Amino acid sequence: MTFKRTLTFLLCLVSASVFAQDWNKKKCAVVLTYDDALNVHLDKVIPALDSLKLKGTFYLTAASQEFTKRLPEWKKAAANKHELANHTLFHPCDGSQPGRSFVTADYDLATYSVRRITDEIKMTNAALEALDGKKERTFAYPCGDTQVAGVSYVEGLKGELVAARGVQGVYVPKNTADLYNVGSFMINGQTGDELIALVKKAMETNRMVVFLFHGVGGEHSLNVSLEAHRQLIQFLKKNEKDIWNTTFIEAAKHMKATASAKK
Ligand SMILES: [Zn+2]
Repeated sequence: MTFKRTLTFLLCLVSASVFAQDWNKKKCAVVLTYDDALNVHLDKVIPALDSLKLKGTFYLTAASQEFTKRLPEWKKAAANKHELANHTLFHPCDGSQPGRSFVTADYDLATYSVRRITDEIKMTNAALEALDGKKERTFAYPCGDTQVAGVSYVEGLKGELVAARGVQGVYVPKNTADLYNVGSFMINGQTGDELIALVKKAMETNRMVVFLFHGVGGEHSLNVSLEAHRQLIQFLKKNEKDIWNTTFIEAAKHMKATASAKK
């Protein structure tokens, strides 16, 4: 008995060390995120993902017409296990940065207060909860801007947000230090092969890759063709035994659980 017990204990230890750090027991994680609540996400992306039983995370700007006019469809997407996520109420960006001529005075983050952006993010959480009933939410920084007047505006929101996606193009290790600025690859004009190469690299290095899409087959100046997107998701489906396709929130919760299991 003692030998048997020792053996079981050792086996548990081995399997814990092998699997605890795995991406849901797969080589890598792939998170597909889509920003700015575009019509094309509802019309093209979600049907394409659904046809392969894949999941996406949709960073929604709650005051945008594409969100407010199509609430039942976003609700349906959530019911279908896609993630509805917070991309603020009005999408404020810092107009004082270079190349920001598109920023209007009303929604210039450079003239916001931390209180204002905090309230708007909380309001967006409430709007999303009204659709999907969920209290846990992730966030993506509009334009990648993380600060108001030199202060991180998410610092005071950590109780309301599980994690936040940033825009630095890096692969994410399992023990990533900061879940409130997780890197992602901005997609604009890549071919299907180039998108697939990003996944292959994540598989080789045992990391997570987060895709940041805007337009897919149009509707945004940052865009990728429907064909390239189709090639990517077909690759994910074909290699699902090695690739964990999940939502950003599930990936973040997995990383948190892995980190606390190690302590
Ligand atoms: Zn955006």
